[in-house]
Amino acid sequence: MVNLSRDFFIALSNNKFLNKNAKRWGFRLGANKFVPGTEIDEVIGVIKKLNQAGISCTLDHLGEFVFLKEEAIKAKKQILYTLDRIYVEQLDCHISVKLTQLGLDINSAFCVENMLEILNKANQYNIFINIDMEDYSHYEPTLEILKELRKHYENVGTVIQSYLYRSKGDLEKLKDVRIRIVKGAYKENNEVAYQTKDEIDREFISLAKERLLGHSFTSIATHDHHIIQELIHFINENGVSQDRFEFQMLYGFRTELQYKLTKEGYNFCTYIPFGTDWFGYFMRRLAERPQNINLIVKDKLYTKDNRLKKQPIVTSAIIVLSFIFWRKKSKR
Ligand SMILES: Cc1cc2nc3c(=O)[nH]c(=O)nc-3n(C[C@H](O)[C@H](O)[C@H](O)COP(=O)(O)OP(=O)(O)OC[C@H]3O[C@@H](n4cnc5c(N)ncnc54)[C@H](O)[C@@H]3O)c2cc1C
Repeated sequence: MVNLSRDFFIALSNNKFLNKNAKRWGFRLGANKFVPGTEIDEVIGVIKKLNQAGISCTLDHLGEFVFLKEEAIKAKKQILYTLDRIYVEQLDCHISVKLTQLGLDINSAFCVENMLEILNKANQYNIFINIDMEDYSHYEPTLEILKELRKHYENVGTVIQSYLYRSKGDLEKLKDVRIRIVKGAYKENNEVAYQTKDEIDREFISLAKERLLGHSFTSIATHDHHIIQELIHFINENGVSQDRFEFQMLYGFRTELQYKLTKEGYNFCTYIPFGTDWFGYFMRRLAERPQNINLIVKDKLYTKDNRLKKQPIVTSAIIVLSFIFWRKKSKR
């Protein structure tokens, strides 16, 4: 059942029709629990509050499935504007981008051009740019583009996913690059990726330990307290300096743990997505942890005096019907 619901939400996250139309719906299904705003000005207050608590942030102006040059250019302009706002407001915040948002599916040279413009401004402001890692079909092109960009700028890094067999080898080649380690959010087949939680977790721990003993900065991005505890033990045992790594989690997830780790003196960074393109991101979060629905159901289905609301029932019914339809289709 867990795998089934994971596959279902991943399928929804890749559905171009729903992604496109969700932009028009505004926030629905409780997405604002995990995506705090559609405009940069709406999230500046959120960042300031986290900064005051000692937490730095990485901002992701949401966007995927870009196949038109105008859309990629629009996304680039929004990122450039976001950089200006970070600089003017003096926020402790860097930026995460997806290359498909900046034209990777259109033309690689065009994507590089857009990235160079972003990196040029970020470099002037001394702001780091992280390239998020997408599904495996974009993996090799992302690493190629990173290599190209680093010929010009150093303030750029990327993400390594522990579910991929090849990650250990790639990490070896990225020794000098700032890297975020994650488990991996997409559905990959067993030709390229581990399929069980045990294997993916074991690999995550092994990759993180290797990085912690190296020289470049590493972001350990997980909500998994077992992994965090094991790595803290390793950090203490090996006297790993605090300025060599940080923990990262997504906005809206395990908020208490985010504050707790910060209070204990660890560098902490919260990943904050914003924008109208929230659907794919939100569905991947439901795929990772279907229990997230509980949080939303509580919030969305009931009024404060515990009465059922009508409109979310309609949206939930649509999801249930889509699920039934999708199951039938996948059985064929
Ligand atoms: C900052 C950040 C950036 C990311 N960037 C990328 C990227 O660029 N590319 C990519 O493919 N993926 C990315 N991801 C997603 C990542 O790959 C995983 O899909 C996602 O983080 C879920 O895995 P996990 O390690 O958090 O723990 P999971 O495997 O989801 O959970 C492990 C255990 O942790 C506990 N747990 C987890 N969540 C909660 C919760 N909310 N409340 C209570 N307990 C909980 C539970 O005990 C659970 O069994 C990113 C994740 C983060 C945090």
